[in-house]
Amino acid sequence: MRLLPEPVENLIHELSKLPSIGPRTAERLTFFLLKADPAEAAGLGQALLDLHSGLTRCEVCRNLATNPRCDICSDGSRDQNLLAVVEEPLDVVALERTGHFRGLYHVLGGAISPIDGIGPEQLEVKSLLKRLDSGSIKELILATNPSTEGEATALFIRRQLGPAKIKVTRLARGLPIGGDLEYADQITLGRALEGRQAF
Ligand SMILES: [Zn+2]
Repeated sequence: MRLLPEPVENLIHELSKLPSIGPRTAERLTFFLLKADPAEAAGLGQALLDLHSGLTRCEVCRNLATNPRCDICSDGSRDQNLLAVVEEPLDVVALERTGHFRGLYHVLGGAISPIDGIGPEQLEVKSLLKRLDSGSIKELILATNPSTEGEATALFIRRQLGPAKIKVTRLARGLPIGGDLEYADQITLGRALEGRQAF
């Protein structure tokens, strides 16, 4: 015997597959939607359906886009000489939110991680190198994450470039404000030491 009608159980089951949503949260969300205006549930359902059907990858930077070329790549006022390489679309969002970057992006779609079976061929590295060959890029900023995988990816790309005709930089790393040296991980502390400035 079912404890709950099938449509309710189905939604609980689907929601509980999402990251950081356990069965109890899935139940709460389901009952929230059940009590809310049916238009709320319909809006959520439509947004889920549109998520994949309305999206593509930008043909230039490989970021998520609704057109063959994304808004940033189509924007002629961006600095065409500056290219930031990031792992994921959300990294573009983070850099855009700083308001300090007016260049272009290239989204790799992840980072090199042998343990997860992700090598350079699973990432948008080839398209990046092709873009650098043909483009007007003067500075490449390797803005992959300050993790083991992000560092390995930055290093791999750096090696692919060979004796560079372009300037290659890496985001400066710092210690988090309010942090203690003893709690900083090795990579952060190492890079903080490398990136030390006159004081
Ligand atoms: Zn683009």
